[in-house]
Amino acid sequence: MTAPVKPDIKSLTRDELLARFAEWSLPEWRVDQLLQWLYQRRVTTWDEMTNLPKAMRERLSAEFSLSSLTLSLKQGASDATQKFLWRLIDGALIESVLIPANPALYGDASDRHTLCVSTQVGCAYGCKFCASGLEGWKRNLRPEEIVEQILATERWHFEQSSKLKVQGSKLAEDGAATLNVEPGTLNSLAAAAPERLINNLVIMGMGEPLANYDNLLKALRILNAPWGFGIGARKITISTSGLAPQIVQLAGEPEQFRLAISLHGATDEVRSQIMPVNRKYPLRELTSACESYQRKRDRMITLEYILIAGVNDDLLQVRPLATLAKKLNAKVNLIPYNKVEGLQWRRPTDTAQEAFLTALEAQKVVATLRREKGHDIDAACGQLRLRTERELAGA
Ligand code: SAH
Ligand code: SF4
Repeated sequence: MTAPVKPDIKSLTRDELLARFAEWSLPEWRVDQLLQWLYQRRVTTWDEMTNLPKAMRERLSAEFSLSSLTLSLKQGASDATQKFLWRLIDGALIESVLIPANPALYGDASDRHTLCVSTQVGCAYGCKFCASGLEGWKRNLRPEEIVEQILATERWHFEQSSKLKVQGSKLAEDGAATLNVEPGTLNSLAAAAPERLINNLVIMGMGEPLANYDNLLKALRILNAPWGFGIGARKITISTSGLAPQIVQLAGEPEQFRLAISLHGATDEVRSQIMPVNRKYPLRELTSACESYQRKRDRMITLEYILIAGVNDDLLQVRPLATLAKKLNAKVNLIPYNKVEGLQWRRPTDTAQEAFLTALEAQKVVATLRREKGHDIDAACGQLRLRTERELAGA
């Protein structure tokens, strides 16, 4: 895929925009107005930026694209986990998953909504259990495509709730004379207040984030910046299958992003069976990269451990897992495997899952077990896309 001819406005930092606006002899406050429209109001057209002069909007649209994501499919009820399948401008499909407050997940008890974000179309790492890697890697997402997942999800959410408000205010407007307001005022007032839905990000959707390092970091800086989306670095968790050199590189960045390692095996033997990346960066190398991350951070690393029946759920894995977790001062997230169509792997029984957790806790490791009801929608990222791509191919 060739990149669009014009850079997207949402791939630029404030400093980059300032430099550009200075060339055009435009003042700094114009940049801030523009940023407001992009990240607070989440507009999708230049024409909506009504406080920017028309000539300026024309110049911007001549130089930059302003792309947004198209919703292709959505699954799930509004009070539970919801999956969004987005279509990109080249037709590729990616997923984001919106998870309502769950204090046991990655953030603090005050969480409202977590969004699980994709970073690539497909994945090159080919973990044997994962739907995202099944059809290989297509391309990296650009910074604006990462940022847009958050904006588009919020846009969708607030559009839904304003539809509800419209219904409500229709009733109110029937009696608008009583309130002495113009019909329509109630809706525009509601739309004017910038609101936030998402206050936690997990970079755990499709793709290997650290294999798209530069675009990821650029996107996260835009999402983190007070002039951008304004989400705290400590509220952003990057999950990696274990790219050791990039973990070391990330440790050197100024932001305090959180790190999660997809471990899934506590010995090289077990891990290499299901994660080919382990042959390139075996546990010794991965551990030492994590140690260098740990030394520079005051936050705990999380070790993700999917429980797959007969593969990594043997209690013999508990001791090496506990040793690793203690060495890294990490907590362990046990996740029952989500069935992927066409793959033979299964999750262990509830009893086997609980036994693994108990054995781990007996080793004095901080651990959680995600206890899920039904896997239909809670399924890991990548599966909705896979099914849709296959249906399209069959059609
Ligand atoms: N590539 C990165 C981030 C995306 S995968 C990584 O591997 O960490 C996000 C998480 O979902 C990883 O921990 C991955 O191992 C897990 N995962 C993939 N397929 C899964 C499945 N079928 N059931 C449960 N978790 C799965
Ligand atoms: Fe890629 Fe992560 Fe899936 Fe492995 S688990 S194939 S690294 S997305």
